[in-house]
Amino acid sequence: MSDGFGRHIEYLRISVTDRCDLRCRYCMAERMTFLPRDEVLTLDEVAIIAERFIARGVRRIRLTGGEPLVRRDVGDLVRRIGRHLNGGSLDELTLTTNGTRLSEYAGSLFDAGVRRINISLDTLDPAIFAHITRGGDIEKTLAGIAAANAAGHRVKINMVALRGLNEDAVLPMLRWCDRRGHDLTVIETMPLGDTGEDRTDHYLPMDEALAPVRAALELRPLPVRTGGPARYFAVEGMRVKLGIITPLTRNFCADCNRMRLTCEGKIFMCLGHEDHVDLKAAFRSGGAGALDAMIDRALGAKPLRHEFAIGRGVSATRRHMSVTGG
Ligand code: SAM
Ligand code: SF4
Repeated sequence: MSDGFGRHIEYLRISVTDRCDLRCRYCMAERMTFLPRDEVLTLDEVAIIAERFIARGVRRIRLTGGEPLVRRDVGDLVRRIGRHLNGGSLDELTLTTNGTRLSEYAGSLFDAGVRRINISLDTLDPAIFAHITRGGDIEKTLAGIAAANAAGHRVKINMVALRGLNEDAVLPMLRWCDRRGHDLTVIETMPLGDTGEDRTDHYLPMDEALAPVRAALELRPLPVRTGGPARYFAVEGMRVKLGIITPLTRNFCADCNRMRLTCEGKIFMCLGHEDHVDLKAAFRSGGAGALDAMIDRALGAKPLRHEFAIGRGVSATRRHMSVTGG
């Protein structure tokens, strides 16, 4: 599949639920109204849509949310999509999770063919973790990370850079990841959905977030490209690979190779745009045969780049990251 700008699209992110057991300050409001269940795609619908994308050339799928592991039937979904790995029609099935339920799921995910898991961890300090997540218990996430590692998964830690909350924590996190054999990606906070708080207060540009790291260690850019927005660095004397995602300070949309399926069955071509096509409506009225025309429409509408901005008086997109899938 190619979009209107000639970009090859081979990666699909699927938000399997908008629900979550945490309430990270940059992601959700404290009191969230979640989608009614009949507006969320059933497991069968997600699988059929994913299979249509695989037939059209998608080679990599990432399940995310919300928190994918709070959806009760997620194990069945992973097994069903995972069968395409054995058949050779899919190269990779991965997951992004907050890790709180990984102790329970790490083994079965591995058995279904998952090999890489991204786990969100913004700090190693239990009190700051509880503050950022509005009540989360860091021990559950740490246990989940250990379980994923023990089950054989390659673990990457996702850390959102937050002024006043974890700006001194990037270097310790890098060392912690290196000791454990994990990679680390640091992310600038994006203006997605109302969180009930002003993001400007906690927005930390990447150059500032990395300043303590650069003062202590040499970073060497790596030529690795995954078709996503991340750029990667080797770190002097360490095996950890450092990724950075800089939607605000440096835009890397030019080689974006991804589409996003929301938990309510919409295809958003870009995190930062409201343009979408409604695959659920097409599927529920016209069956699987109606999907291709909608996928083509989505491809034709993929914008060149997002237009994020953060500042007082600048509004966020209406959608939360949890609906679209981070
Ligand atoms: N619940 C899972 C988790 O936290 O990993 C998966 C969904 S979460 C929306 C996916 C990723 O998006 C996480 O790494 C999270 O830190 C990041 N994220 C959420 N809201 C964000 C925002 N406004 N700006 C930047 N990253 C965000
Ligand atoms: Fe939940 Fe992930 Fe959003 Fe945190 S970032 S509230 S864990 S969906």
